[in-house]
Amino acid sequence: MTVFNLGSINADLTYRVPHLPQAGETLAAVSMTRGLGGKGTNMSVAGARAGARVVHIGAVGSDGAWAVERLTEYGVDTRHIARLDLPTGHAIIAVDDAGENAILLYPGANRAIPIEAVRRALEEATDSDLFVCQNETSLQAEAAETASARGMRVAYAAAPFDVASVRALLPMLDLLVLNAVEAQQLTAATGLEPQALPVRDVVVTLGSKGCRWINTDTGAVQDLPAVPVKPVDTTGAGDTFTGYLLAGLDRGMPMEQALRLASKAAAIMVTRLGTADVIPDLKDVQDFG
Ligand code: ATP
Repeated sequence: MTVFNLGSINADLTYRVPHLPQAGETLAAVSMTRGLGGKGTNMSVAGARAGARVVHIGAVGSDGAWAVERLTEYGVDTRHIARLDLPTGHAIIAVDDAGENAILLYPGANRAIPIEAVRRALEEATDSDLFVCQNETSLQAEAAETASARGMRVAYAAAPFDVASVRALLPMLDLLVLNAVEAQQLTAATGLEPQALPVRDVVVTLGSKGCRWINTDTGAVQDLPAVPVKPVDTTGAGDTFTGYLLAGLDRGMPMEQALRLASKAAAIMVTRLGTADVIPDLKDVQDFG
């Protein structure tokens, strides 16, 4: 079984600065690092590190070959990542000494994924495979529709929150993952509480408070605790959680077991500085607690 992930690929360019730049200011950065990021990438890496076969559907520009190479090294199937004549998506992140940041995000190739790349990838899928997408790309609804028509289970992490995308995808979803803020935004926009959504499984992540799983078939609501850790950097915790959850489900785990695995992986992630490059592997997770 395979997880097909229509997802963003970003270069995270992090600049350490003495203070965050003011309007009109030219500021010398003290250091610079280039890491692999983007919600889609993080989920693909998490899924692969959790032991799932993951096919990433996406796009980069000619400046993104390194990102594809790194994804390949991390065990992700990268054959369906298109090379476009556009800049690769990137985040320019300024971080000051107090840890405060300012981020400029340029979607670039992520918003120009060709529909043919999506179709070709999903032609390889079967009804025992899983499809997932987030909101940092284009074509989510078209891809989810194709996946659903092929009998795949369709999962969606509604981040960054966009009400039009959520509305378009809701009828096709088997699993929806939201953080607490996104859950509130969805309720404000639709008037529906998570338990009233037309989606069989809804998972609301609650940071250090864990997560809530709502099975709308049975009406059962289950709260699972987070694994207590001393947080260092929560970036990528949600993506790691979702990638591990999907990998667990893909490997046939019951939802509760997959959620517990995902919570452990996300807790480890919270103790690490960085994004895709530092997502824990299954052995780290099994050895943890
Ligand atoms: P982010 O945007 O920071 O990646 P998110 O807002 O999408 O995350 P959260 O609800 O903050 O998602 O976190 C996802 C999961 O990560 C939680 O359900 C929990 O399992 C784990 N987690 C997050 N923060 C902590 C923490 N401080 N301690 C332990 N686990 C945490």
